[in-house]
Amino acid sequence: MLPLQGKVAMVTGAGRGIGRAIALALARQGADMAINYASNDAAAEEVRDQIRAMGRRAELFKCDISDDAKVHAMGESVNKAFPLVQILVNNAGITRDKTFTKMGHAEWDAVVDTNLKGPVQMTHFFLPQMIESGWGRIINITSVIGQMGNFGQTNYAAAKGGLDAFSKSLARETARKGVTVNCVAPGFIRTDMTSGVPEKALQHIKDITPMGRMGEPEEIAEVVAFLADPKQAFITGQEIGVNGGLYM
Ligand code: NAP
Repeated sequence: MLPLQGKVAMVTGAGRGIGRAIALALARQGADMAINYASNDAAAEEVRDQIRAMGRRAELFKCDISDDAKVHAMGESVNKAFPLVQILVNNAGITRDKTFTKMGHAEWDAVVDTNLKGPVQMTHFFLPQMIESGWGRIINITSVIGQMGNFGQTNYAAAKGGLDAFSKSLARETARKGVTVNCVAPGFIRTDMTSGVPEKALQHIKDITPMGRMGEPEEIAEVVAFLADPKQAFITGQEIGVNGGLYM
C-alpha cells in the first residue's frame, strides 16, 4: 500500500512550477488531490488529468488565496468534494520586486497577502479538521530569500520569514495533536517565477550556489512528499533548505 493512500492533500498554486511537481509527487504516493490555482485553467487541467490517469481522485479549485472570503468559500467547496483534508501544502506565491524606497503599498500588500496571509487563512480553515481527526501535515513553501534576504525583495523576504515564524509557533500548538508543521525553503528553482530573471543574474545565482546550478521543481517536491509521509511523525517546526548549498 502506498504511504498516502486514503488521504487527501490540498496544494495551492499547483497548476505550474513547484506546486505542480508537489501535486504529482503526492499523488504518486497515493493521495487524492485538491488542486488550487489562480488563473491558468489549461495548466491546472493538465495536472488534474495526469493525476486522474494515476487512478487517484483530483479536483480543481480556482481561487485567489490572497482573498480571505474566497479562501473560506473554496474551503467549503473542497470539503464538499473531500470531507477530510489532512495534508495542506501552502505553495502559491508571487514576487513584486523593487528596492524598498521605491516600493509602494501595492507591491507590499500583493506579496504579503499572497505569500503570508493566504497560507495563514488556508491553515485556519483546514487545521481544525486535521486536529479533530488526530492526524495532519502542514507544509509551507518558504524561500532561501526569507533566510538570507535579497536586494529588491524586502516584501518577499518579510512574507517568507514571517511564514517560517508562523509555522514554528503553530508547530508548538499542534505538536500533541498529531499535526506536524514544517517549511521547505527552496533556493533558486527553474520555474516561470525565475524564467524572467536576466541571463546575467541567473549566471550570478549559479556562481554563488555551491552546486553551481539551479534546482528542479521535482527536487522540492520529493522533500515535501517525504515530510507528508506518516512515517515522518517526529519532525515538526523545521525549515528544510533545498538550495544546492546556497544557504547553510
Ligand atoms: P510559479 O511558477 O510562478 O507558479 C505559481 C503558482 O501559484 C501558479 O500555479 C499560480 O497559479 C499560483 N498562484 C499565484 N498567485 C496565486 C494566488 N493568489 N492564488 C492562488 N494561486 C496562485 O511559481 P514557483 O516558482 O513554482 O513558486 C512556488 C512557490 O515556491 C512560491 O511560494 C515561491 O515563492 C516559492 N519559491 C520559488 C522559488 C523559485 O526559484 N522558483 C524559490 C524559492 C521559493 P496560475 O498558474 O493559475 O497562475
